[in-house]
Amino acid sequence: MNMNKNLKDKNRPSGPVRVGNLIIEVDRDLCIGAGTCSAIAPLAFALDNDGKSIILETVDGVQTDLLLEAARSCPVIAIIMKKENGEKVFPR
Ligand code: SF4
Repeated sequence: MNMNKNLKDKNRPSGPVRVGNLIIEVDRDLCIGAGTCSAIAPLAFALDNDGKSIILETVDGVQTDLLLEAARSCPVIAIIMKKENGEKVFPR
């Protein structure tokens, strides 16, 4: 784990975590550490020492549109976004 970064939830580095009215999770089995998500939304995502994407405390200040853009950018569709009622936001 990259200890220079504060996690949104230290018990669940890659989520699921609640951000506003969304639930966001990185599927660590799918994530290949391409890092596109953290390049697009560096306040939301970072790579840990295993090369897996983790969700940062500062995610709360990131616009939903940017989070969506980061999710869409993931080459293996490892970032999953849902509404609180379980309805999928991305991927659909
Ligand atoms: S873009 Fe996808 S594969 Fe790359 S680090 Fe982010 S979640 Fe992992």
